[in-house]
Amino acid sequence: MVRKVIAFDLDGTLAASKSPITDQMAGLMEKLLEKYQVCVMSGGRFEQFETQLLANLKINPAHLKNLHLMPTCGTRYYRHNDRKDRWQKVYAEDFTELQKKKIIKALNEGIDRLGFREKKTWGETIEDRGSQITFSALGQDVVAVLGEEGVRLKEQWDPEGKKKHKLRDLVAGLIPEFEVRVGGGTSIDITKPGVDKAYGMQKLLDMLGISKEDILFIGDRLEEGGNDFPVKAMGVDCMQVSRWEETALAVEVVLCVT
Ligand SMILES: [Mg+2]
Repeated sequence: MVRKVIAFDLDGTLAASKSPITDQMAGLMEKLLEKYQVCVMSGGRFEQFETQLLANLKINPAHLKNLHLMPTCGTRYYRHNDRKDRWQKVYAEDFTELQKKKIIKALNEGIDRLGFREKKTWGETIEDRGSQITFSALGQDVVAVLGEEGVRLKEQWDPEGKKKHKLRDLVAGLIPEFEVRVGGGTSIDITKPGVDKAYGMQKLLDMLGISKEDILFIGDRLEEGGNDFPVKAMGVDCMQVSRWEETALAVEVVLCVT
């Protein structure tokens, strides 16, 4: 079957956690964009796309029109404007100030009740992403500041995924009107109800006028409760990877058979 769109999660799938894509991955992306529409969807902000994806992507501008960027689970959508040679926001759906306050209060309560407040953190632990609030146990910048040591600290914080699921359950009980999900290795994402990667994927289907059979999605958190799971649950064909090297192999296979 010929897919029209190859879609990816960003963090942990196209790149190591909070790190830029490698030259190898950048090269594969370029080849993929010659043949396919490519969507990258993440819980992270557009700024994260700039540092993790765009900074190291050396793409023929003619092919950039095939790249669809969906930060914060597709509550924001960016396309490249050829004439202006810049990325343009097509739409954004944000929280009100009152909603943000309520969410941040619930997160703080959950963190303190479970004793998950770390003494040493790097950058913001609660980040306002406009349409999404994200808690990161060790801070947003732990990897940017510490490099590999930061990746190691993140992996150590919750290797079995128990802590973040506990926090998720507690916070979800405090603010049932919002959706609370486990995000990356040390993070919790909160959005409006129904906003998850399936929401973003549906937006993409509608905008491109294609059906879910036309998409192949590759992600590293496809297990139930993971932030990529909603895409699988909506019936899109998904491929699970555990690190970017596996994604590179998957892309090579896609390029070889098409
Ligand atoms: Mg991921």
